[in-house]
Amino acid sequence: MTKRIFNFSSGPAILPEPVLEQAQRDLYALPGVGMSVLEISHRSTTFEQIINEAEADLRLLLGIPENYKVLFLQGGASLQFSMVPMNLLPKGASADYILTGSWGQGALKEARKLGRAREASSTAATNFNRLPGPEESDLDANAAYLHFTSNETIFGVEFQEEPIVGDVPLVCDMSSNFISKPIDVTKYGLIYAGAQKNAGPAGATIVIVRNDLLERVPEGLPSMLDYRNGSRYNTPPCFSIYICGLVFKWLLNEVGGLKKIYVKNAEKARILYDAIDASDGYYRGHAEKDCRSLMNVTFRLPSEELEKIFVKEATSHGLDGLNGHRSVGGIRASIYNAFPLAGVTSLVEFMQDFERKNG
Ligand code: PMP
Repeated sequence: MTKRIFNFSSGPAILPEPVLEQAQRDLYALPGVGMSVLEISHRSTTFEQIINEAEADLRLLLGIPENYKVLFLQGGASLQFSMVPMNLLPKGASADYILTGSWGQGALKEARKLGRAREASSTAATNFNRLPGPEESDLDANAAYLHFTSNETIFGVEFQEEPIVGDVPLVCDMSSNFISKPIDVTKYGLIYAGAQKNAGPAGATIVIVRNDLLERVPEGLPSMLDYRNGSRYNTPPCFSIYICGLVFKWLLNEVGGLKKIYVKNAEKARILYDAIDASDGYYRGHAEKDCRSLMNVTFRLPSEELEKIFVKEATSHGLDGLNGHRSVGGIRASIYNAFPLAGVTSLVEFMQDFERKNG
């Protein structure tokens, strides 16, 4: 079999090896079915079982209560930028957005095409290297919802706790730290996440929404964009959902749940941030220490030229996907759930060696 390298991509991203191995076996024929998951009807009992099991396992993993719906949709997190206001922002009402990076900005931009949406706070002035304090936020107590991005993938800034919102429903773009740690789902009105970081391959978008919020959905929405139509209004991304299901089983049965994966994630991130901090300024972390992401570790080198050489040499050492997002530059190491500790220690060794040679 071809050798695998360390994949630091921000998404689509690394998947657990046991999941890839099982998918490879099932791709030819599902046991007892004689057909691949790629070939069966989305209305078949086999697929019904696959999607129901994926939902049940996700409910178990995250502790999702009965009064929340779980949806597997399409269109990525980007379509949720529009579906959230279409479904949850009634005419005449206003929604609040906390901006801690480009994805939150994108969500606000789309919401404003559909209704009234306010910037409740933003850390754009410091190039999104931190989270706004409660005193910097101008929250509307009557907002239809408050939207925030729990982990800004590009800047590497992660909320350590949910913003305090009183009775305003909290809507969260959880794309890049979904199922990376335990959360209290009851604090949220709606959670959405593109699958392609921690949950599975690109194609599925997971939405978890509290039932009472669906009473707001206006009549006359395009059917495909109406949350009430569930996961199988049309042909869903069957393969992506199937892999998400395998990832949930991996987390439940092999890792032992979200508390366990959180400990592993925290340890991987600590090792990398310690290496950055120990370099006496050769490597400079982008995010302030108290809001550093456990998923996307962003840092700079003394010059852009050195950053280019760093990425190129790292790639030739089997450390792939380390260049920062095109809008900010620098280095970004994405170390999602499935990323192995050995890859982090390899990167740290490479960083130390690179500094010795180029410092
Ligand atoms: N939100 C966040 C936090 C993201 O990281 C991304 C993708 N990297 C998106 C939204 C957009 O996701 P998609 O490509 O699934 O539309």
